[in-house]
Amino acid sequence: MSGVLVVVEQRGGSLGRTSLEALAAGQQLAKQLGAECSAAVVGDAAAAGELSSKAVAKVYTVEHALLAQYTADGYVAALEQLVKQAAPAYVVFPHTYQVRDFAPALATRFGQVLISDVVAIHDGPSFVRQLFQGKLNADYRPSGAGPCFVSIQAGSFRADALEAGSGATVESFAPAIDAAQIRTKPSEPFREAAQTIDLSAAPVIVSVGRGIREQENVALVQALADALGAELAASRPICDAGWLPMERQVGSSGQTVSPKLYLAVGISGAIQHLVGMKGSKTVIAINKDENAPIFEVADYGVVGDLFEVVPALTEAIQAAKH
Ligand SMILES: Cc1cc2nc3c(=O)[nH]c(=O)nc-3n(C[C@H](O)[C@H](O)[C@H](O)COP(=O)(O)OP(=O)(O)OC[C@H]3O[C@@H](n4cnc5c(N)ncnc54)[C@H](O)[C@@H]3O)c2cc1C
Repeated sequence: MSGVLVVVEQRGGSLGRTSLEALAAGQQLAKQLGAECSAAVVGDAAAAGELSSKAVAKVYTVEHALLAQYTADGYVAALEQLVKQAAPAYVVFPHTYQVRDFAPALATRFGQVLISDVVAIHDGPSFVRQLFQGKLNADYRPSGAGPCFVSIQAGSFRADALEAGSGATVESFAPAIDAAQIRTKPSEPFREAAQTIDLSAAPVIVSVGRGIREQENVALVQALADALGAELAASRPICDAGWLPMERQVGSSGQTVSPKLYLAVGISGAIQHLVGMKGSKTVIAINKDENAPIFEVADYGVVGDLFEVVPALTEAIQAAKH
């Protein structure tokens, strides 16, 4: 057993951002181990080209008619065979809903558990997970004879840190799967409403939270965003209330963003919000509570009333532009 195998997820032939982040984590882990990093894609080989443009030793395309649609049983059966053949010491996944569904069962086949939702990898290696809503970090070290299974939290590694490469060999892997092994009948995958706003590409984001109190007040923060030429985003309660559309929500059940500047206005910094924005280069927080958790990830903080700070800031930015 040696090396790292990253099992990525593809939709319609292209890799999602969390898969690219998991691949970046796999590359980092392989470097720490002085070992090779390979990648595998299940069901549809279309993403193999994109994968082989990264610094990976090998790309496995795991193909079978019974893998055309996702089922936990099919994926466990196929990946058990691949892991046995490729014999990696570490298997890395993005922490997606699909991975949560099948990866623990896969790990169990090897007498292992899934070290899930990992936010950092230290030398050793040890894998960092957050406990108690992010209040504690715990280090997990692999144990046992089997490979170590790890899933990576969205936003914890930077997709733009991925090393490019060209020498990867693409190998097709055909697992033996019997229809009788698959106990569920997949229907059409759930399709989310088309997103009209892609916050993930915005260089500057001003984000508003419940501190804004009422829908009419959102205009104050919109004015600040306009002055900065920024996209307006929000925490979940703002979108749940219908004050801004759902596609402007940042966080674990919203978009993952990594702008150059993220300005959080009246946002407490709950873990579900932080996972969506902690990849931002610079974070500025405005909050009247000096103990708000958002200040732990902020590079600059203003402890103050947003109803005083935001209009003054907007005015100062507008004045500086003239
Ligand atoms: C499964 C699940 C998924 C979730 N997904 C997401 C998600 O994707 N995104 C997300 O954001 N949340 C998500 N949440 C909700 C999350 O747990 C928090 O409840 C939410 O992020 C809190 O939003 P907030 O910071 O705007 O509100 P609050 O936590 O109420 O914070 C408001 C902040 O405003 C400050 N404030 C109040 N008045 C002022 C003022 N006048 N001036 C300055 N500051 C002021 C307060 O000090 C406080 O810190 C999820 C929760 C669950 C359980």
